[in-house]
Amino acid sequence: MERQEFDALVIGAGAGGMAAAARLQLLGYRTLLVERCDRVGGRASTVEIDGFRVNTGALVTETGGENGRLFADLGVDPGLRMPRRPVVLRLGRRDVPLMSGPTGFVAQRLLSAVGAISRRTGKRPAPGPTLADWLDKRNAKPALRSLARNLTSALYAAEPADVELVLFWDYLTKPGGMSPYAIHPEGAIGPWRVVADDFVRRGGTLWLSSDVQGLTFVGGRVSGATVRRGGEVVEVDVRAVVSNAGPLQTAELCPPDALPAGYLERLRTWSRTGALITINFASRRRLGPIDGLFFFSTTRRLAYACEVTGTCPEMAPPGWHLYLGACAPSPATGEFDLDAELALLRADLREHFPGFDDARELSVEVCAGTDWPAQRAVPGKDEPQSTPIPNLWNVGDGARPWAGAGQSGCVESARLAVESLARVVALHSPQPGLTRQVERVSPGAGE
Ligand SMILES: Cc1cc2nc3c(=O)[nH]c(=O)nc-3n(C[C@H](O)[C@H](O)[C@H](O)COP(=O)(O)OP(=O)(O)OC[C@H]3O[C@@H](n4cnc5c(N)ncnc54)[C@H](O)[C@@H]3O)c2cc1C
Repeated sequence: MERQEFDALVIGAGAGGMAAAARLQLLGYRTLLVERCDRVGGRASTVEIDGFRVNTGALVTETGGENGRLFADLGVDPGLRMPRRPVVLRLGRRDVPLMSGPTGFVAQRLLSAVGAISRRTGKRPAPGPTLADWLDKRNAKPALRSLARNLTSALYAAEPADVELVLFWDYLTKPGGMSPYAIHPEGAIGPWRVVADDFVRRGGTLWLSSDVQGLTFVGGRVSGATVRRGGEVVEVDVRAVVSNAGPLQTAELCPPDALPAGYLERLRTWSRTGALITINFASRRRLGPIDGLFFFSTTRRLAYACEVTGTCPEMAPPGWHLYLGACAPSPATGEFDLDAELALLRADLREHFPGFDDARELSVEVCAGTDWPAQRAVPGKDEPQSTPIPNLWNVGDGARPWAGAGQSGCVESARLAVESLARVVALHSPQPGLTRQVERVSPGAGE
């Protein structure tokens, strides 16, 4: 059996794993990144269907915030392209841009100001009540309830009853506000390909179509992993592990006696997962003026939709327009009737895309259950990045910081995990140039 040695192993090349591997290699840790699929990106990736680039989950990537910080630290250009109107809210018959034009300017300033005042005065909603409780208390009209449902669907693959009001508030009013959303001409995989190329260029090792099958332990710490690579099994010796497989799946990779009593059992009932259903469709004729990412107020199910080729024509063969429409089913975090949900989603698409029935349906993507959920945890129920094992961390969805959402929440979890790792796992032979980077990325180094 082959045996190899690395400083750090990262399990999974989703947004969180890719960001963690890139940061570790940047700091000087000899890093192995193992990914089960034949591509990077996880639920922010892209596959080709008859010449159309169809995303496996995520569509848009926040350009600033934690994503922007990662791209800047690596010194890479993710190649993202900004839609003419990055986010538009369809309110009845009116389309209101939320991130561009005068309405976008006012909306952004308003949220920033409310957030700043709330942080200064310490006034924010009390923990506990959900967004649904708040809507009930105000006897909210159906249109407001539908808008709230569509926003929680799009942001959290959840419904208002699943989302604490204070978490929703903290997300909307976070410092720095919402940074514009952008699309990559290669699809959601685009930015992660850029980060993967940079990781490999810096000497990182990436094994695609490979599986981490188990972790080995010595003295209460992870000492290695068994990896299936092609038809071979490779034993890898490592000093630290960062996992993007999800907290439960990561614990299941450990020998049961290596974990504290009750840990695995707790994770097995830890949280419900969230679901999202996406219909990808294409037409030779343009179907309505939905150019950027549209959120909807009053629909049966449709939470958001986009004409992807409005910004990135490369995503479809010449002469075609590529669209998607998505919703969280009801219940979003439990068993649902897929046929009934699809009927409601298609009815909405017919209404908002005249000519939808003549369009070509390319795929229906259902992200649900424990293996490929839209969200591994109900918002606010994420596990910390650290685990009971001192040299094992979780990153990505399921280990995001409070109010973190989407890819940027996963990228943030990766930064926090790597900062923590750098505090407890010293570099083998720090080089002068790298010590400075450790200090910059990990202000707590040496604590
Ligand atoms: C339909 C949908 C639409 C979305 N839209 C957006 C959006 O527009 N913008 C946005 O920012 N976010 C969006 N999100 C959320 C975003 O896609 C996810 O939160 C994010 O991509 C999850 O990343 P992650 O770090 O958890 O990694 P994951 O995507 O979960 O990737 C984990 C990877 O680990 C691999 N893996 C697991 N176990 C092993 C193992 N044992 N060995 C090797 N490899 C393993 C898996 O194959 C996978 O590739 C959307 C999600 C969905 C489902």
